[in-house]
Amino acid sequence: MSSLPKCPQCSSEYTYEDGDNYVCPECAHEWPKVAAAVAEDVKVIRDAVGNVLQDGDTVTVVKDLKVKGSSSVVKVGTKVKNIRLVDGDHDIDCKIDGFGQMGLKSEFVKKV
Ligand SMILES: [Zn+2]
Repeated sequence: MSSLPKCPQCSSEYTYEDGDNYVCPECAHEWPKVAAAVAEDVKVIRDAVGNVLQDGDTVTVVKDLKVKGSSSVVKVGTKVKNIRLVDGDHDIDCKIDGFGQMGLKSEFVKKV
């Protein structure tokens, strides 16, 4: 039973599970199990070679990318400044000179 966390309020070791919560019998504190799981599951977005990306980073495109709904292509080596990380299939929101606002996939860029 060593996997049970100590009570965050009184540090008691005698906690137990109750459904989706942990409960401390000594101070009656209850807290959700999911909090711990969420903390471990913070989304980390990595570039093509595994660098962790952050808002404001500058990246270069590592593959010719067709721009949806047009015949233009963002060429390999295109520099993209000040990216913004977002949720979704295209997890980078950015503005590229000559193209405007667009979404990129982190797997197709490399941090500069
Ligand atoms: Zn407690």
